[in-house]
Amino acid sequence: MPDEYTLTAYDQWFFDKGYQDPITLEPFRGGDNVVVCADCKMPHLVSSWEYNGGCASPVKHTRTIPFNRSLFERRRLNVTDRIRQELQEWYFGKEFFDAWKRIFDFKGRSRRKDYGMFLLYSLIGGFAMRFFLIIFFGNNEGVKIIYLIIHLLVFLPPQYSLTVRRLHDIGHSGWGIIIFFIPLINCMLSLYLMIRGGQHGINRWGANPKEIH
Ligand SMILES: [Zn+2]
Repeated sequence: MPDEYTLTAYDQWFFDKGYQDPITLEPFRGGDNVVVCADCKMPHLVSSWEYNGGCASPVKHTRTIPFNRSLFERRRLNVTDRIRQELQEWYFGKEFFDAWKRIFDFKGRSRRKDYGMFLLYSLIGGFAMRFFLIIFFGNNEGVKIIYLIIHLLVFLPPQYSLTVRRLHDIGHSGWGIIIFFIPLINCMLSLYLMIRGGQHGINRWGANPKEIH
């Protein structure tokens, strides 16, 4: 198949990374024929890819990309390089807008950073909005209602799918979101979702978003 690549002894750097085929769960070896998913950059055995009709991710990826060392380089970056790279891509409000863009995505995964930063922006935005509303219109019932409406229209809608995606990322069903309707428990769960790291590799909801770039 196109983009198929046969691993050789020259690809020791690749073996050193410890990848395994997501279907057979066997580590790759010299002589293996591999393809790389264009969407999640996960390497697969050609036989697994063909057997599965595409990538092992449940979000069906069917495109491949030529095997290239640079595809896997990012995962080798140390912490400081990783932070530098993240900062280059960052702009104020990024995670907030990203959450809105993915508002109907109830099937994927989201990182701790996406979740935590979204909540932080909501907090900052909420305070700022309340502050200006009170300055311009005074602290009255009308302002409280306007604030509540803005909150319901701007900050709340993307939270549902984002929470579901964060639950997926740590390996739980999205139905866990039901717990968020219990007061106090929801605060603890929210904190947990900010702290708990995602599962490595591919799980039922796709590849680890932190490892894809
Ligand atoms: Zn894929």
